[in-house]
Amino acid sequence: MKQSFKIYITGILGFALSLVACMGFMTASVPVTQTVPADKIPVIVIDAGHGGFDGGAEAADGTQEKDINLAIAEKLAAEAEKYQVEIIMTRDGDYGLYGADSVEKKRDDLTARKKIMEESGAELVVSIHLNSYPQDTSVYGAQVFYAEGEQAGTDVHTAREIAEIVQNALETSLPDGRERVAMKKNDVLLMKNPPCRFILVECGFLSCPGEAELLKTAEYQGKTAAAVWKGINEILCLPVKNQLPVTDSANK
Ligand SMILES: [Zn+2]
Repeated sequence: MKQSFKIYITGILGFALSLVACMGFMTASVPVTQTVPADKIPVIVIDAGHGGFDGGAEAADGTQEKDINLAIAEKLAAEAEKYQVEIIMTRDGDYGLYGADSVEKKRDDLTARKKIMEESGAELVVSIHLNSYPQDTSVYGAQVFYAEGEQAGTDVHTAREIAEIVQNALETSLPDGRERVAMKKNDVLLMKNPPCRFILVECGFLSCPGEAELLKTAEYQGKTAAAVWKGINEILCLPVKNQLPVTDSANK
């Protein structure tokens, strides 16, 4: 009883402290400038879904999900790299993570991605995908999913909380008149017992012609990536990189 109360109080304190730190970050007129010790820089894995032989979903004009996933993942990495964080990409080109002689390419690919995640020591995995629902091509909009497992309790903020904040950030930045809720997902291999908090962002529907056109543009890809990062860093509150300490000359 006492032990659980202590954990509860520690959790409340941790949450309050991180909230104060985060609010300070959001309201400060200049970015937070403290330097995180090199060995404490958090790792985030960014996973561009599919690749190589596996194109993922396909738009009516033949545009493949794998290419847009990579474009958004690279833009997300570029946003994140302005901050004190180490980014590991599961792929940075059009290839899958399987050997040339692989007989089960999809399985080998997913196993290799999972290994990267497990060995990375990451705080968070962000997997980028696109949806498709050819039965009704009017269905559109971004939706965030999260994995729930033992890792969920290892930090003050769970994958669910991060997913909900990212979902809100997407809705604010990409107003499309649609309100979705972040949902739990555990029917894909990567999201079963992940080594850390894991969110999967379905950035839109390639089956919807209007949304597919948007998703193909660098501008929309960039807006999506910026919104995902904004949501993530509302929780992680990472300070910006290479920022010189700000000296207030009025106090001299
Ligand atoms: Zn996909």
